[in-house]
Amino acid sequence: MGLSDIIGQQQLKDRLIRSVQSGQVPHAQLFHGNEGVGALPLAIAYAQYLNCTNKQADDSCGSCPSCIKYNKYAHPDLHFVFPIVKKKKSSGTSEKDTVCDDYISEWRNFLNRNSYFKLSSWLTEIGAENAQGTIYTVESDNILKKLNLKIYEAEYKVMIIWLPEKMQEECANKLLKIIEEPYDKTVFLLVSENPDSVLGTIRSRSQSLHVPPIDKENLTKAIPAKYNLSEEEIVSVVHLSNGSYLKAEEVLENNAENEDFLDLFITIMRNSWTRNIRNMKAKGDYFASMGREWQKNFLSYAQHMIRENFVYRLHSKEINYMNPAESGFSAKFSTYVNERNVIELMDELELAERHIEQNVNPRMIFLDLSMKIAVLLKK
Ligand SMILES: [Zn+2]
Repeated sequence: MGLSDIIGQQQLKDRLIRSVQSGQVPHAQLFHGNEGVGALPLAIAYAQYLNCTNKQADDSCGSCPSCIKYNKYAHPDLHFVFPIVKKKKSSGTSEKDTVCDDYISEWRNFLNRNSYFKLSSWLTEIGAENAQGTIYTVESDNILKKLNLKIYEAEYKVMIIWLPEKMQEECANKLLKIIEEPYDKTVFLLVSENPDSVLGTIRSRSQSLHVPPIDKENLTKAIPAKYNLSEEEIVSVVHLSNGSYLKAEEVLENNAENEDFLDLFITIMRNSWTRNIRNMKAKGDYFASMGREWQKNFLSYAQHMIRENFVYRLHSKEINYMNPAESGFSAKFSTYVNERNVIELMDELELAERHIEQNVNPRMIFLDLSMKIAVLLKK
């Protein structure tokens, strides 16, 4: 991973490059920043630069023998520690001592596919979505053993510890001495999202490097073109993301689902207003063809839209939570949601949601709902 793969953070990149060029490489650094700002990929790209044998003025070369191995996260002098869960013993159901190396191929595969990710995504990757993720005490022996080995081929041996706040205290304590007086040409890169939870004695032995939220300009550029957003929509996504690329992705994914929901919501309201039974039935078939969770999510989305339209009518824009497409539709539609029907509309949508849960035929629920909305909209 090159420094150019990291979104924004130019000041930090410059600072890191300068420190390498001047030969002042701290032996322990704590990269810390909120989820999604890129602290982990930045630490990896920095380690790659540190060991690149053909360093460019602003990035690693990407093609020297060291970079080639770093690009696959598989360099013999690059070590990773990250939260894991214990594996079961192959013979029984009890848990065995598990270290990160037991997950190293999953970890490399995962890094190959994602550079910005959250802990829950990594845990899902290893089939542990309901677990906490921990760096166990036994890991410290493994770390010390690795650092005792001589350097194979790199200039610096690098130990990247992702989320040291997940470290069991005993593990952290065992690492204190080596972090304070590391072997020559050994670099610890700790990457934390919650530095206050990292053992104070470790924190005080590391040079702190704050990774700030990504600036708006670079975050805007990083939004994938596949979403086909208007300028106004991009501004809104970037605003909601607070400088986190992961948050931006989340907003974009929700938007994609909401777009389908908005289409269906508009169609239902139109069919009900025009009392078009044939179209109501056709849409009912579509609704019934979707999964139960989707149906429930849609009905709760419809309640959100009714609520927002009622508020919209009161011209309380500051308490309005709609995206530009929703607001566009609501400019007109909100005149049909008023104090005479808002409660009943909400009740009907809630009832439909309950019926879905009780396994009532979704076609019937949908048609019934459309007819009731037809009556209520005229109130
Ligand atoms: Zn290189």
